[in-house]
Amino acid sequence: MSTQLLYQGKAKDIYGTDDPDQIISVYKDQATMLNGARKEEIAGKGRLNNLISSLIFERLNKAGVATHFIKRLSETEQLNKMVSIIPLEVVLRNRTAGSFSKRFGLKEGLVLETPIIEFYYKNDDLDDPFINDEHVTFLGLATSDEVAYLKSETRRINELLKEWFAEIGLTLVDFKLEFGKDKDGQILLADEFSPDNCRLWDAKGNHLDKDVFRRNLGSLTEVYARVLERLQAVAEKEE
Ligand code: UDP
Repeated sequence: MSTQLLYQGKAKDIYGTDDPDQIISVYKDQATMLNGARKEEIAGKGRLNNLISSLIFERLNKAGVATHFIKRLSETEQLNKMVSIIPLEVVLRNRTAGSFSKRFGLKEGLVLETPIIEFYYKNDDLDDPFINDEHVTFLGLATSDEVAYLKSETRRINELLKEWFAEIGLTLVDFKLEFGKDKDGQILLADEFSPDNCRLWDAKGNHLDKDVFRRNLGSLTEVYARVLERLQAVAEKEE
């Protein structure tokens, strides 16, 4: 199998395969924040995120969500469909937290009766600015029909994920998704779903996500391992 490095990301590297429609994502032991301004090596993080994201994507595939995920190859690698990423971060919020709380001067944890979706333009030089639907079409990032699809799909994914996390005693506060287009132009959920790009709180209000790193709350791998254990317990029960 050829192993040509196609793309080097902050948390993952992407390699080509002999099949032009498939890529291998290799999860790395690196944590970054502030667009890479703070960077740390965290042993074991890549494995945990790969295992967590693989379990979630397997369940999403089973639930009929169109995703790029084919299968997990090893502790740190996944086989995925090749997509061209739409340069949008699609954020959905079930509760106030993070930049939303800051922007509107609201305490964290307030329930948003109707979950709110936000778009950020994925552009490192511009620091991923907050943009609205009209900016998205103006910039040619997606058509208005595609924007409508991204939003409805994100809401559907939220309903599934909220329920799954509730089953393991966790509140899904917010998360970020990325989508891409395959060779036929079909939009697929891509990237990853892990505690790196969502917020998960337990019943006691502990953060089991990247805020542990952002806010220096303790050991990141310890809390990610707890999320993995709980997801694995449910996955085993269902098999
Ligand atoms: N998020 C992400 N990548 C980013 C920015 C945010 O995965 O570049 C996720 C983040 O983990 C959280 C959600 O999107 O689950 C909303 O993040 P927020 O806008 O509150 O920003 P933050 O407080 O993380 O700066």
